Amino acid sequence: MSTFHCTSCGRAIFRSEALLQRVTLSSFEGHRAECYAIREAIDEDSLRRYDVSLHEGWYCCRFIMMRMVQDKFGTGDDLLVYSDAVVEVADGQAPPALASRGSVVKLGKRDHDAVISAPANQDKLLVVKHGAIWCPPCRHMDVIISRLIERKALPEVRFFELDTDEEPEIAARFNNRAIPFFTFYYGGRQVKVDVRGAHCVDGGIVGAIPEQALFTFCQTLVDRLGKPDRRTA
Ligand SMILES: [Zn+2]
Repeated sequence: MSTFHCTSCGRAIFRSEALLQRVTLSSFEGHRAECYAIREAIDEDSLRRYDVSLHEGWYCCRFIMMRMVQDKFGTGDDLLVYSDAVVEVADGQAPPALASRGSVVKLGKRDHDAVISAPANQDKLLVVKHGAIWCPPCRHMDVIISRLIERKALPEVRFFELDTDEEPEIAARFNNRAIPFFTFYYGGRQVKVDVRGAHCVDGGIVGAIPEQALFTFCQTLVDRLGKPDRRTA
């Protein structure tokens, strides 16, 4: 017997006896959103609640558990827990050291504008992903962005994230209500983009972006914005 714990905060989420099956909710560019279907959680009431059109759920520091309100994936009333958000610990064993959230800096209303205007960031393209931890396309983008950072594929780009639930004031600066939503900054100002084939609102891009497309788009933007400096160098 064992207990599954949150990989970020370590809290116990469900017991192995509650495990029904493992399901794949979606697959996007090699990243599969794999979930455990479970009967019940250990202490659902102490988790934070959310409710959106297709699903409802509960989470702690990182998205933990949901239930499809429309049975899109044939999972019925089962609770779904993303497998990459939990770690199994056998009874009698000590929980492992907690995983870090990676190197994407999370912005809040106290530091959002300061980070954009910081002197050290003036010659970098800053990409801010507005999203929420319960949003599957946002999670896909987290994986893609982590890959680009690990590969050091875009040294002139800095990625940030903004939780739209925690920071509604900044999210409300844009005429956009969908996530993920990407905004771009260079030299202390927003770079408004209008990309053919993408849904753009208020100079930002709405929706998930394939890895290669995000890479090419950022690199093209960096090349264009960085040109005057390069000429004088
Ligand atoms: Zn947690």
